[in-house]
Amino acid sequence: MQKRQITVVYGENPREMVTALLTKLKPEAALPREATIGLKPNLVLDKPASSGATTHPELVEGIIQYFQSKGYAKLIIMESSWIGARTEQAFQVCGYRDLAAKYGLKLLDLKKDQTVKKKVEEEELTLCATPLGVDYLINLPVLKAHCQTKLTCALKNLKGCIPDQEKRRFHRLGLHRPIAQLAAALPVDLTIVDGICGDLTFEEGGNPVPMGRLIAGTDPVLLDTYAAALLGMAATEIPYLTLAAALGVGTTDLTTAEVVEVNPEAKTAGSFRLAGRAERFARYVQENEACSACYGSLIHALHRLEEEGELKRVKAGAFPIKIGQGFRGQAGSGIGIGNCTGHFAFNLPGCPPRALEIKAFLQRLLGD
Ligand code: SF4
Repeated sequence: MQKRQITVVYGENPREMVTALLTKLKPEAALPREATIGLKPNLVLDKPASSGATTHPELVEGIIQYFQSKGYAKLIIMESSWIGARTEQAFQVCGYRDLAAKYGLKLLDLKKDQTVKKKVEEEELTLCATPLGVDYLINLPVLKAHCQTKLTCALKNLKGCIPDQEKRRFHRLGLHRPIAQLAAALPVDLTIVDGICGDLTFEEGGNPVPMGRLIAGTDPVLLDTYAAALLGMAATEIPYLTLAAALGVGTTDLTTAEVVEVNPEAKTAGSFRLAGRAERFARYVQENEACSACYGSLIHALHRLEEEGELKRVKAGAFPIKIGQGFRGQAGSGIGIGNCTGHFAFNLPGCPPRALEIKAFLQRLLGD
């Protein structure tokens, strides 16, 4: 897999989606059968994946099935929940205890792991030993916004690979620089972002937004830059991305990315279960058989506009914004998002457009 490649799979069944993804990427091609494979989901706390907080266990199950079918026997699921949450409880509530029992896997609470020191930029970091020691590390973050760092995805998920005392120190240091340094200290072989449903605002979920996709790559900075665009943010808004790029972890230059869609035809109309703060944005939207990949991006874009105080400037007549396959061939005077609403007076093409593009498009309309 090329370093600049970003591979996207659409759908709503994480197990099937990740199987299609791995079949495309063939990570086993350069991996001996005796290799130890580490799986690092995001189990920040004990909330199910439907809350938008944690990695779907079905996604991890698909990965286990794939590697076991290829003859790999040494797989470890590892995580350290955030300070104040018990990882063992998260394993239980999020379905990982059952998963480990079903496939005979080891679950490792990294809060109990040995630690090692690594130096980056004259800063000594304390890391859990096991993630550093595996032969192949797969990072499995959730596509989420974050109240402090704006984005929590590939790079920030690695914070689960340091002891609690080091997490506290990261917070004292303002998070951004240590997160970038951690990414330099802990190489990841493959990142698969769980974009089935992430959170609109918070790391701990409660405002789930269906986004209907998995996103994979080997450059975590590029992946995070892509993820940020899906949530309506530029890399420049997230200092740890720029810092990690300067440390040589990857690039924030999305123009160098080669985006490969494994199944573009699988963008199908989804069922939307918006909740919490995400729910109230639905009143600005008229959806008709919209794909979650499209609809979720519009919700994120509206949220970003609200954060910046611009949503209230949109004239009442502009709403509701049309989106969805049910509008194909229909014309109208309003705003349409995506190729399916191409005959509306004001249309942003794309299938699906990213939230960053939607936000810029709506801002341009506001300026007119
Ligand atoms: S443009 Fe239409 S088909 Fe494409 S993602 Fe949006 S709703 Fe789905």
